Amino acid sequence: MARRIGLLGGTFNPVHIGHLRAALEVAEYMGLDELRLIPSARPPHRETPQASAEQRLAMVELAVAGESLLKVDDRELQRDKPSFTYDTLESVRGELAADDQLFLLLGWDAFCGLPSWHRWQELLEHCHILVLQRPDTGNEPPEALRDLLAARSENDPLSLLGPGGQISFIWQTPLAVSATQVRQLLAQGRSVRYLVPDAVLAYIHAHGLYRE
Ligand code: ATP
Repeated sequence: MARRIGLLGGTFNPVHIGHLRAALEVAEYMGLDELRLIPSARPPHRETPQASAEQRLAMVELAVAGESLLKVDDRELQRDKPSFTYDTLESVRGELAADDQLFLLLGWDAFCGLPSWHRWQELLEHCHILVLQRPDTGNEPPEALRDLLAARSENDPLSLLGPGGQISFIWQTPLAVSATQVRQLLAQGRSVRYLVPDAVLAYIHAHGLYRE
């Protein structure tokens, strides 16, 4: 039977409940077999004074421990430079059966920026795209995406067929949490309890992360 696998990339600097709830809700709604969080590499000079790639990965692993739907995929950190999403998709696809379904999750903002991505018009050769759309955003997509949307969008995300090739929107009210906010609170010596899982909080404190 074909598997259904979701991918959510991000810097996860650090991972927070906004990422985790979005991932879990999409995984349940879509009936995925698993949803993989894929921490991205960043240019080395951007790492300080923040968390290293190893620390960001460790926090994502702690966050999903015990949640069977959520997994961590560290392939982008195994390379010595930031990866293109196209290359990551090709690499993941190479490990799956031909009829397995792959769903790339993108926030609305990321989706609107798609035309600047490496080989963006070929992404759909490897996956479906699920755009996480907030109920309160009424924005029009950029001109460059109109033709793609006209040709490839499918209203009901549960009707996406085959291994890839279509775009659908998932309407979801996100939790108002960002990694920027978490870092800022920590830099000010304030608590981020309940914004990140307890295990991530303990890791942040044990390693003295995000302090000014
Ligand atoms: P930063 O504040 O550092 O820019 P971030 O919180 O936006 O970080 P990223 O690692 O850039 O986190 O996000 C990875 C993915 O998770 C992106 O697709 C982003 O749209 C999504 N995401 C981030 N925050 C939320 C949230 N609160 N609810 C739902 N999705 C989110």
